[in-house]
Amino acid sequence: MTPGHGSPTSPPTRRGIMFVISSPSGAGKSALSRLLLQDDPEIRLSISVTTRPRRPSEVHGVHYHFIDVPTFHQMRERGDLLEWAEVHGNFYATPRQPVEQALGEGRDILFDIDVQGTLQLYERMREDVVSVFILPPSIAELQSRLKRRAEDADEVILRRLRTAETEIARWQDYDFVLINDDLERCFRDLKQVLVAERLKRHRQPHLPGLTEALLKDLRAVLS
Ligand code: ADP
Ligand code: 5GP
Repeated sequence: MTPGHGSPTSPPTRRGIMFVISSPSGAGKSALSRLLLQDDPEIRLSISVTTRPRRPSEVHGVHYHFIDVPTFHQMRERGDLLEWAEVHGNFYATPRQPVEQALGEGRDILFDIDVQGTLQLYERMREDVVSVFILPPSIAELQSRLKRRAEDADEVILRRLRTAETEIARWQDYDFVLINDDLERCFRDLKQVLVAERLKRHRQPHLPGLTEALLKDLRAVLS
């Protein structure tokens, strides 16, 4: 059992971090998310629902739960969604139950969601959210990454570039901004953000007990 996940002998459980990564499409957030999930066993991906068609490389239940539009509306009306947005003409949303369960168990959760979704999480759970915005080094590079990915039709790519205008303009809503020029370097920076956030005082509930014990021992040594 890892620290923070709670057992009779481990430190008290902290609440998990909601680690949000957003970027214009093609800037590299899926690549960065993949690296983070492989590297860090303590963070899990929040698997969104979407009404967008599945890409050839995607697996239902791994990358997304692919659902139809009536199902999306049913989930929304039942209050099953923590946040939702219409992005590039499709619906995307975060199912509520897995997130609330993971946070209560002290697990960190990674969200690959857009700016609209991030703002909704701020409204509901600002204390738990750490947000990172990924910028491409240039628009030419963004365009060429979208083309290289070769999983979307030309008109879909054009639509994503148009949406990028409003997305890039929201960079100031985020706690951290990284420029994804070199993927390895950007990934190192992303990891450092997560490590530093885990060390924040309010996320270490064992500190009052630990410092109290240290002071008690110190007084005993000095007396
Ligand atoms: P997003 O999830 O933001 O839409 P992806 O992670 O799918 O973007 O990245 C788009 C394409 O660019 C992918 O083919 C990915 O492998 C590639 N890519 C990501 N980061 C870099 C980088 N720093 N340098 C070169 N190619 C990159
Ligand atoms: P894609 O179609 O490339 O997988 O994702 C398109 C956009 O939708 C990206 O900006 C991605 O972050 C966003 N997105 C994916 N899942 C969610 C979600 O659950 N909620 C919101 N608000 N945006 C999402």
